[in-house]
Amino acid sequence: SQNEQDSRYYAAFARIPCLEPRNQQEAYDLTREAFDLSERLHVPVLLRLVTRLSHARAGVRLQAPRAQNPLSKATDKTEWMLLPAYARGRYNALLQKQPELLRWSNSHPTNRLELEGRDTASVVITTGLGGNYYDENVEDLLALRRSQNRSSLPGRLHIGAYPIPQDLVQRLCQQAQEVMVIEEGQPFVEERLRGLLPQGIRIHGKMDGSLPASGELDPDNVRAALSIPTRPRLTVPIPEIPGRPPQLCVGCPHGDSYETIKLAVMGLESVAITSDIGCYALGASSPYEVPETIVCMGASVNMAKGAADAGIRYAIGVIGDSTFLHSGITPLIDAVAANTPMTLVVLDNSIVAMTGCQDTILPSQRLPILIKALGVDPLHVVELEAKRPLIGANAEILKREILYRGLSVVIFKRECIEALKKRKKEASARSIKTPPSCADPTGESVVGGEK
Ligand code: SF4
Repeated sequence: SQNEQDSRYYAAFARIPCLEPRNQQEAYDLTREAFDLSERLHVPVLLRLVTRLSHARAGVRLQAPRAQNPLSKATDKTEWMLLPAYARGRYNALLQKQPELLRWSNSHPTNRLELEGRDTASVVITTGLGGNYYDENVEDLLALRRSQNRSSLPGRLHIGAYPIPQDLVQRLCQQAQEVMVIEEGQPFVEERLRGLLPQGIRIHGKMDGSLPASGELDPDNVRAALSIPTRPRLTVPIPEIPGRPPQLCVGCPHGDSYETIKLAVMGLESVAITSDIGCYALGASSPYEVPETIVCMGASVNMAKGAADAGIRYAIGVIGDSTFLHSGITPLIDAVAANTPMTLVVLDNSIVAMTGCQDTILPSQRLPILIKALGVDPLHVVELEAKRPLIGANAEILKREILYRGLSVVIFKRECIEALKKRKKEASARSIKTPPSCADPTGESVVGGEK
């Protein structure tokens, strides 16, 4: 999300179960469980993944694949017809499921209570990945406590399934004087403990500054929160290394498009350039520094319209072809209806580049047809080739459209460099001739899998 939102709040808000894996194996197993649980309880189940888990890889033990369920329609049509009268009923049905959800979470195997032989006055709650960081420090924590004549580890509850297992929390904290909460993201459990536990129990975590309120947890900041001395560090002299922020690929068509936009708006007063999510978001950084906003898929169009409505004279939205097809069409219809004086620049690289060069849902040739069909004046739907030698000429055409006091759409077209490489590689693989001795005893060549 734009600002590290914690998806557990959405699950609590919707009163649905949430599963929070602490490693790849759990991510695999809990995903399967989530589908089963959803079918059993007729509610969506939220699987919470955090940055470090999503960016790490590990082997997992696979379970046997299962056949797809037979096709069936809902027997109770009120589940899928959210008219007000039904919606009230659905909410009551959801409330009635809450005790079952609590029973499920209190007995869920990922919600593990460790009390036997533990210190019950000072206890710890870990959730998801926070549990791993705690485990990494547990030996040193035990050594520290022994040096303080406290022979055992704190009582501990690890949470991997929500709603918060209230019974387990109450059992953990029966004799507790203080609780440390180690959770990735926002202080979701910590906040709720204040309503669950009697006053007087000291609660430590992100809200009292024991752990950092923003950024990720790691073994070191968890260690500091547990008052374990810092680990000895190796100090290695590192030469000064220049920063290497992410950049557009060399030769990327978006680079030429951004240079064109920069040239086109040069000298204009009252300009707002909004952009969107995709490789072209990198146009916000040096050397281009063109977009002023990048919020969410499709927002460039609404925000340019909003800027124009608010009085910005030259409002320009910049959106990729795939993002436009995903969620830019509806706001463009809005701009058509109002004939908003703005220019939408569509960067058509003919592929979904950022996620690995998948095909777009509409081929490039049909993009201008769609845009005209939405009601944009065909005289102001312009297609330009995003090529370096054409930057000057393209900037003049773009400026003409920016100065036009109505809605215009300018499409910059050129294939993504990575897509081009991929296409050439696939074409060359198809054209490799199979040696006659391997596949073709007749000696005739085999091209593209066909004789
Ligand atoms: S992957 Fe394609 S669109 Fe993305 S930066 Fe590279 S060339 Fe540009």
